[in-house]
Parts: sequence; structure tokens; C-alpha cells
Amino acid sequence: VRDHVARLVDEMRLADVAATIVFHTSNMLAFLGTTHSSSDRLVCGAVTRAGALLAVCPAFERPGIAEQTSLPAIHTWEEHEDPYARLAEALATTGVRGGRIATDGRTWLDAHARFAAALRGCTLVPGEALLGAVRLCKTAAEIELMRQAQRRGERVYAILRDLVRPGVTERGLRDEVSERCAAEGLSASPMIQTGPNAAVPHHDVDDSPLQPGHTLVVDSVTSTAGYINDLTRTYAVGTPSPRAREAYRVVRAAQAAAIAAARAGVVCEQLDALARQVITDAGFGPFFIHRLGHGLGIECHEPPYLVRGNALALRPGMCMTIEPGIYVPGEFGIRIEDDVVITESGCEVLRHELPTDVTDAFER
Ligand code: ZN
Repeated sequence: VRDHVARLVDEMRLADVAATIVFHTSNMLAFLGTTHSSSDRLVCGAVTRAGALLAVCPAFERPGIAEQTSLPAIHTWEEHEDPYARLAEALATTGVRGGRIATDGRTWLDAHARFAAALRGCTLVPGEALLGAVRLCKTAAEIELMRQAQRRGERVYAILRDLVRPGVTERGLRDEVSERCAAEGLSASPMIQTGPNAAVPHHDVDDSPLQPGHTLVVDSVTSTAGYINDLTRTYAVGTPSPRAREAYRVVRAAQAAAIAAARAGVVCEQLDALARQVITDAGFGPFFIHRLGHGLGIECHEPPYLVRGNALALRPGMCMTIEPGIYVPGEFGIRIEDDVVITESGCEVLRHELPTDVTDAFER
């Protein structure tokens, strides 16, 4: 938090912004260190150019926020009071009574209108670029949390490994894994897709049983100390078709090519194109139906996005998934996903013990 605030202050100086109002859950966590955020009741924060930090919340939520943070200024409002007026007063106590005030890009429209009404002497300007710039490249401390998140994320796969068997249903497998993870204090509810369901990337679990010849795509998201880990592995039940086996090897090669090419200076869309080329060259181009990857950190999906049209150049500290896939409708799906951190000379794959290949059935 302290580091995020310091970097936000730098950005605000460059942008000539007097204060930034923080609204979205992820930004409340990143800049104020609290998991509290707005419901129908306003909970928000602000960072001033002078480095002052404040929160506004309902009086009864104060203890929860005070427990999580060391914020010196928590301004509360009673149920009958106007929380937006409270924010204006709170900003005034820090000396901010006019000038440009940046707002979180994910402020609700009605909340934004009420900020504008309460802060009549100020000019509201879009703040997403400021907040985004701070969160885009992770600090060493954040990267260490990402590594810890990876260790816990891999645990889900260690637990799952012994439960994959013909006959168990997608739902049954998901529930078994979730229960065993919960017993270890790990909250996990992986996406489990098998057979034709695996060809639909966000298919919800159903009661389809795992059958010999099917591929099984498992996509698991876990969170450790507020940081996300996102992994996917493709298993085989029995021996998949020759085409599925070939597709698997192509996906693995596409991922390896992207990982080998990822480094500071490479443009996001180039990385997507490079992996896509491997898949296209093998004749599976039309079946790679999504972007190559997404940034992750406090959120599971955040910038940078590895997608055609994104000309952003990678920088050290950026964290993202690399997750090519091949989805043949009605037949099978395959995806392999790992999380990487960009470095000056390449990338660090946040892999601890989990191998890329979780079965040798695709090699036969
Ligand atoms: Zn993902």
C-alpha cells in the first residue's frame, strides 16, 4: 500500500491532480489496504498529492477498516447523513478545496454524479490511467506474493491429481477438490470441463462423467494475501484421439514459444500473434478462440492484455497469464495456462513444482 501510494503521488504530480478518489474494490485494497468498498452505502478513499490518505465509510464499518489498515483519517457518516458531503469535508481538512480531482474509472455513474455535486469547486478528471499506471508493474514485494500465490495454486492440482478417474462427474470432481482444499484452508473452486464441454472455455460444471478418450480442462484461480494465481492444465482420461493428442502438443509448443519470447520491450499483440502463428501453422488457427493471456495481480483479469490490437510494450514487473488453447466444437478442448513476470531479459515463469504435462497420455 505504502509503495502504491507513493507511486500514485508521483503520477498525480505529473498529471497536475490535487487528489484521487479511490472507489473500486481492487483499488481500495491496492491503495488503502482494506477489503471494504461501496455497496449501496458509500465506502471510498482518497489520496492527495501531498500524500495524505483518507477513507469515508458508514460509522458502523469503521472498526472493520481500522482493523485492516493504519489509516489515520477514517471519516464516518451516520445513516441519515450525506456521505458525499462527508468526502468533500474530509478532502477540505487536507487542504483540497479546488483543482483537479481524479476519479477511479470504475466509479459507478450515480456515485460519480454525486461526487461532482459535492465537490462543486473542483474539476473531476478521469483517474483510471493514474491508478492503472501504478498497478501495471508489480514491485518486488508484490512479485514475492505472486510466487506464494503460485505455491498455493499448485496445491489444488496436487490434490486433484489423485481424484481424476473415469466415471466421476465434473461437478463431483469439483466438489471433491473444493472440499479437500477447504480442509487445508485453501479456498478453491476450479472450472472442470470434459469431453465436448471442454470445447467451451467458460462452460459451467455439469453432471457429465469423465469418459475414456476425453480431455479434461481444469482452470483454477486462488488468492493468497490478496494476490491471484491462475493456472490451467489439461488432463486425459484414457487415451484421447490422435487429433486431440496433436492439438495438445501444438498448444504446448505455442505456450513455450510465447514464454521464450516474453521480455521487456516486446509488444503485447506480438506475443499473442507469435503463439497464434504456431497454432495456425499446425492447422488449428480457427480453434484458438480467445486472447493469449491477461494481466493478473490483485485482480484475476487486469491489464496488460495479450491481445491483437494492444500495442503496449511489456515492462519489467508486469505479471500475466500465457494460456493458448484449442477448442474443437463437439469434440475436445485443450488449454495450458501459466503465470509469468516480465524481466529485463525474459520472463520468470511462476512455476514451482507443477509440470506442464500432467499426463503422458498425449505423448502416445
Ligand atoms: Zn486465465
